[in-house]
Amino acid sequence: MKSIKTLSAIGFIALMFLSACGTKSTDNKKEVEKEEPGLQVYAFEVGDILVKDISLFNAGVDAGQSKQFTNTAYLIRHPKGDLIWDTGLPDALAEAADGNDSPGFLMKMPKTLSSQLQGIGYNAADVDFIAVSHLHGDHIGNMNLFTGATVLLQEEEYAGLFEGAQPNPAVASLINNEAIKLKGDHDVFGDSSVVIMRAPGHTAGHQVLFLDLPETGPVLLSGDLWHFSKNRELRGVPQFNVDVDATLASMDKVEAFLKEKNATLWIQHDYDQQQGIPHAPEVIK
Ligand SMILES: [Zn+2]
Repeated sequence: MKSIKTLSAIGFIALMFLSACGTKSTDNKKEVEKEEPGLQVYAFEVGDILVKDISLFNAGVDAGQSKQFTNTAYLIRHPKGDLIWDTGLPDALAEAADGNDSPGFLMKMPKTLSSQLQGIGYNAADVDFIAVSHLHGDHIGNMNLFTGATVLLQEEEYAGLFEGAQPNPAVASLINNEAIKLKGDHDVFGDSSVVIMRAPGHTAGHQVLFLDLPETGPVLLSGDLWHFSKNRELRGVPQFNVDVDATLASMDKVEAFLKEKNATLWIQHDYDQQQGIPHAPEVIK
């Protein structure tokens, strides 16, 4: 009996030891999980755009007046991968001191996207996913930098990416990249924290991006659904949008979503609003 009791005691002590080890290892795991960074965003200024007649965006309002736009791209860092959202005007424009002057716009590129990525020690080839709100030149200018990325575009937009006998040099090298052609909303990492939302009208496959940030809270990146705050207040549809009804329906859908999520709208071209948002190298959490 005594020897059995001794064995039992040894067994009990061994069990306690093992269970203590088990507890310790679980605690360690929790510590590691705690240290893992959550969702983070870097905002980059990727061009400035002088609109020579702002009534282009709100028909009949402030006709003949000019307005300064900014242009913004975002690197979204999720524990499961990185996504670049919009890529700005082409970096090559930085070499033209006077910028690109056309009847409607004067566009300049004071800082390249490449130099800003280098500034945070980030290699563009490491991006896992690339999504642009739509294919206008001020959003696709540097897609070529992201050579290893899976392209996430609505199917209509993807169809236009390599159109023509000579594809746009800003995107040409992505022709063999993996792509997911979207037909609606898309939860990029499967945890509802980074969600592409279909919002057509500005172009046929225009999209916006929802982010659920751990400290800043829920944020929605506008693409060009709106161009500045007054444009949103007036529900102004730019005169060059491909579909007015689809634009208004997208505005209604996104306004309802913003309300439901209590999310903040970041208007990517809104100069005044973007001044209040930290830009790289500062990180947004
Ligand atoms: Zn734009």
